[in-house]
Amino acid sequence: MRFFWRILAFSFVLIIIILLVNTLRLTSHQLADVPPAAPINVPDSAIQRFAGAVRIPTVSYTDYTLTDTTQFDKFLTYIRSSYPLIHQRLNPQAFNQYSLLYEWKGRNPALKPILLMGHYDVVPVIQGTQGMWKRPPFAGIIDDGYLYGRGTLDDKVGVMGLLEAVEYLLHTNFQPERTLLLAFGQDEETSGHGAQTIATALKKRGISLEYILDEGGAIKTEGVSGVNKPVALISIAEKGYLSLELTAIGKGGHSSMPPAQTSIGMVAEAVSKLEHNPFPARLDGGVDRLIDYLASEVSFGQRMIFANRWLFGPIIKKIVGETKSGNATMRTTTAPTIFRAGAKDNVLPIDAVATVNFRLLPGDTVEGVISRVKELIDNDSITVSILGKGNNPVPLSSTENFAFQTIHKTIRSIFPDVIVAPNVMLGATDSKFYAALTPSIYKFSPMPITEEQTAGVHGTNERIGVKDYKNAIWFYVTLIKNSQ
Ligand SMILES: [Zn+2]
Repeated sequence: MRFFWRILAFSFVLIIIILLVNTLRLTSHQLADVPPAAPINVPDSAIQRFAGAVRIPTVSYTDYTLTDTTQFDKFLTYIRSSYPLIHQRLNPQAFNQYSLLYEWKGRNPALKPILLMGHYDVVPVIQGTQGMWKRPPFAGIIDDGYLYGRGTLDDKVGVMGLLEAVEYLLHTNFQPERTLLLAFGQDEETSGHGAQTIATALKKRGISLEYILDEGGAIKTEGVSGVNKPVALISIAEKGYLSLELTAIGKGGHSSMPPAQTSIGMVAEAVSKLEHNPFPARLDGGVDRLIDYLASEVSFGQRMIFANRWLFGPIIKKIVGETKSGNATMRTTTAPTIFRAGAKDNVLPIDAVATVNFRLLPGDTVEGVISRVKELIDNDSITVSILGKGNNPVPLSSTENFAFQTIHKTIRSIFPDVIVAPNVMLGATDSKFYAALTPSIYKFSPMPITEEQTAGVHGTNERIGVKDYKNAIWFYVTLIKNSQ
């Protein structure tokens, strides 16, 4: 018996030692000694130009017949007159009439081009919420240090910020070594057809890119638990997309003599099975990279947990999974979104159809999801079909290459007090359409964003700090210089 206790005590001590060694061995992933970026003078007219762009309601609707394309014409005329040098010297080309590609040829053809991108369409203001805006959504009003309006964060800040940065560089006679491409879509919020057309054209030209930077993660000033500094999130992953229709065909008839199970009952049972059997939570779909970067920035106790995922993996999953967004970063999500069946209260419906939307975590595939769904439903009377087009997740981009290090360095040279970390983006962007051109796709919007501002994206009171916009321009200027 004494022997048993000895073994137990020895194992315990051994585990403690392993935990401590792993914790103490952690080193910071933050680039050290990054010199501050060379300052630039962003004139106040830049924010006026941005306000002018917000005043053009370039709203895109999923039903394209509702989209007022004359606003796109206005927007293109507006940027042409606001940024004359770019339009004289960067060979603007339109695809699908309204999506734009610019090319600034670098002096060294041996270097692969970079592509900086964004979109100038915006989502509509939700009906009935107009009056809830502190300043009207398309008035472009600047008030107490903020510019209010739809698109100030998503994503006219990207388009106008990049145009402003490149116009500035042209003014200063900067000559890029590496070719710079700019791509701006007009239908990112709906179909992304513009981006797909540009990507196909670039592919035909045989272009491969060093990296892509699109809209995405921003500098979160709050809400990253355990870290008491703002965290700049560079998204290295984007989830895949799939909607499935589950259809059951019943016999119909009078509701006075129903069968044991109706088509509605069958589909309801199938949906319930899917909800009760979520896809397994995984840390290897990108969350592990985030944890790697945050681990050295948190308290000793939390660090010990992060550093010993072999033991604490389940605890981490439990904590991360407590929020809806945390849960969605760890697994392929299952969301029943439409249910259609029946027309009259005393008539049995013939068919019942449920639509279930899945967002695929890197590592999962469209085929894999379909076969798991069929297995769970386990009912040959229900047909499972793909609605529209699904897409697999784009593989994780590296955190060890020139691109990530350049973006990381640029962030820290402008925002010295932030922690940089890679993350998984939950929304979809146009950048996935360019996946054939490079394995290095990053998504980062260079501005601090509070929880309240996050709620304004696609919501109410979208607004950006005037100073934050100026810094975003500074970021793009510096990033282009650092990418040479
Ligand atoms: Zn967007």
